[in-house]
Amino acid sequence: MPLLEFTSKGIYCKQADVYLDPWRGVDKAIISHGHSDHARWGSKHYITHEINVPIIQHRLGKISVTGKKYGETFSINGVQFSFHPAGHVPGSAQIRVEHKGEVWVFTGDYKTQIDGISTPFEPVKCNTFITECTFGLPVFQWEDPIKVHDSINHWWAQNQAEKTTSLLMGYSLGKIQRLLKHLDPSIGKIYTHGATEQMTQVLRQFIDFPETELITRETTKKAVEGNLVLAPPAVLGSAWVKKLGQLSTVYASGWMAFRGARRRRAVDRAFVLSDHADWQGLLSAIKATGCENVITTHGYTDLFAQYLREQGWNARTEKTQYEAETLETAATE
Ligand SMILES: [Zn+2]
Repeated sequence: MPLLEFTSKGIYCKQADVYLDPWRGVDKAIISHGHSDHARWGSKHYITHEINVPIIQHRLGKISVTGKKYGETFSINGVQFSFHPAGHVPGSAQIRVEHKGEVWVFTGDYKTQIDGISTPFEPVKCNTFITECTFGLPVFQWEDPIKVHDSINHWWAQNQAEKTTSLLMGYSLGKIQRLLKHLDPSIGKIYTHGATEQMTQVLRQFIDFPETELITRETTKKAVEGNLVLAPPAVLGSAWVKKLGQLSTVYASGWMAFRGARRRRAVDRAFVLSDHADWQGLLSAIKATGCENVITTHGYTDLFAQYLREQGWNARTEKTQYEAETLETAATE
């Protein structure tokens, strides 16, 4: 019997009777991170990293949840579980599962780049590695993120000089805070959309960020002029955006590495910045685990598993309901 099985409710450990990031409500769920395709509503009890506790409480409301530290081992029915940094977003963790000397690691989502807000990814030795591969094609090769942040500040400063408002868009959890952390507040004021502001407030207890001001009904076009607005990509084309006046719009995502992606998202400029591992990041992470078996769960799963088999791993794909956030669905968060 495998230590972890792929069932209709999620990844299941029969010995411990718990699910990892289940997509249906279960009795006991161990959660890798706060994104909505991994932390779903409807389970009776959740166990997750302690930073992720207020994040999922903010998202899921009143739930029963226990927080753990990175590396802290807890036992359920003789199975040992622990969380290890995944470097994806604040509080994100790989879940290590050990029973009778066999070790499996489930990554959730992860990246090997250091983002300045999440605890950096740490490889964990295991026999079987269950990995995402959202960007599992050789074409995905991320730039140095410091250079990306410098370009974003440069873009903002230019807009400021032209009295144009800068609209910078990204996911409400993780991407927005990573962008905010590296903005240069000497250029101007930083305004936020409600969804962005709320999640940032949740994370302020753990991370120092530049000051932000929520856009309200009273906020005037004149007040935001030349300043920067942080918002989720879903606002594009909305009445909320129209109120902001003359804008330069930017979207920051790994998908912007694709030619034509900027035009398809209808933004003025795009920056390639991802909270997932690129091709080399995935390969280096897998090598560092020393694993024999790899299971790919979401992203370019079949192509990536095939490549791994050619390199000598015992690799296969399992179907899950984790969303390999695509260019189109990236706007829904
Ligand atoms: Zn995620």
